[in-house]
Amino acid sequence: MSPPTLQDALLHWFAQNSRDLPWRRTYLPYHIWVSEIMLQQTQMDRVVVYFTRWLERFPDIASLAKAREQEVLLLWEGLGYYSRAKNILKTADLICRRHGGALPENHGALLQLPGIGRYTAGAIMSLAFNRNHPIVDANVERLFSRLFNLAAPVKEKQTHAFIWHKAAELIPLGKARFFNQALMELGALICLPRSPRCDECPIHDHCEAFAQEVVSERPVAGKPKEIIHITMVNGVLQHQGKIYIQKRLPDDVWPNLWEFPGGRIEEGETPEEALVREYAEETGFAIHDLKKIATIKHSFTKYRVTLHCYHCRLRGSAIEPVLNAAQEYRWANPDELENFAFPAPHRHLIKRIAEKL
Ligand code: SF4
Repeated sequence: MSPPTLQDALLHWFAQNSRDLPWRRTYLPYHIWVSEIMLQQTQMDRVVVYFTRWLERFPDIASLAKAREQEVLLLWEGLGYYSRAKNILKTADLICRRHGGALPENHGALLQLPGIGRYTAGAIMSLAFNRNHPIVDANVERLFSRLFNLAAPVKEKQTHAFIWHKAAELIPLGKARFFNQALMELGALICLPRSPRCDECPIHDHCEAFAQEVVSERPVAGKPKEIIHITMVNGVLQHQGKIYIQKRLPDDVWPNLWEFPGGRIEEGETPEEALVREYAEETGFAIHDLKKIATIKHSFTKYRVTLHCYHCRLRGSAIEPVLNAAQEYRWANPDELENFAFPAPHRHLIKRIAEKL
C-alpha cells in the first residue's frame, strides 16, 4: 500500500487532534471573522475568553453594528492593538449597509472592508465558506520553511511568495476549511518553534528538513527586529475624592481610549519634573504633592516602555482643564473607572491605585 499523501495525512491528523474552539463549533462567517481578528497578535487561550464574552454581548453582526465605540473598546480592553476593534465596528456597519447584514462570500469584496487583509479574507473564504483560498500565518511559514527546506528567511519577498503559492497549490479541492486549519494546527501543536515534535509528526515522511537533518536550522533567521526603549511618566490626579481622566485623540496611539495624563521624560528631566511639565502642557493644571505609586513595564510593537506612575494633587481650585491633548475629560469617582476603556498599562495602574488609596 502506498503511503498517504501529505494532504490525507494532515486531514486525518486534524480530524483526530484538532482543539475544540468555540468558532469551530459553528464555522459561521461572523465567528470566523471575529476570532481571526482577535487572534492577530494574541494567544489562543486569551482569545477564547474574549471571544466567548464578545458573543454574549454581540451575538450577531446587527447587534455589533449598533454598538457604541466605547462599549466595543471596553470589551476589547486587554487585547491591545485597538485599531482592530475600531475596524470591526466600522466593518459591521458597512456589512449592514452594503451587504445585507452578512459577510460577502467574495474575496475581493472582503478585501474592501476595514481591517480585512489578505490573511483574514483567505481565512473567511476558506474556513467559513470552504472555498479554495490559502492562508499563511506564522505557523504555516515555519512549517513550510521546514517542509520545503527553505534556505532563506520566510519574510524575504521571494520566499514569502513561494509559501503563499504552495499554500494555494496544496489545498485539496473542496477541503480548504479543514486543510488550512490542519496546517496551522500542526504548526501550533507539533512543528513548534524551538523543539518540533518530529517523531509525532504525521507528515515527517514528506518533510525535507527532517530528511536532511537540518530541522534545527529552519526557519532561517531574518534581520533582528529593531527595539526602542522609552521612559514615560503618568500621574493620577486626585481632587476632592475624584480622579481626573481624559479621552485620547482619535488619531493618536490608543485612539479614543481614556488615560491619566503624562508623556515621555525628556533628557535631563526627573520623572517628577516631566510629570509637572506634561500636566501643565496637556491640561493647564498645576500639580504638586507627587507620590510614586508604581513602575510598570509595557511592550507594544517595537517599543519597550517603562512607565513611572505617580499620585498627585491639584494646586489651586480651578478644575476645568484646557484639553491640549485630549477630546474629553471627566472627574470620575474611583469606582467609576471600570466603565471607561483604558490601555492595558493604565488599567494595571488603576488596580495599583485601588491597593494604595
Ligand atoms: S517533521 Fe518535524 S520539522 Fe518536519 S514538519 Fe514535522 S514537526 Fe515540522
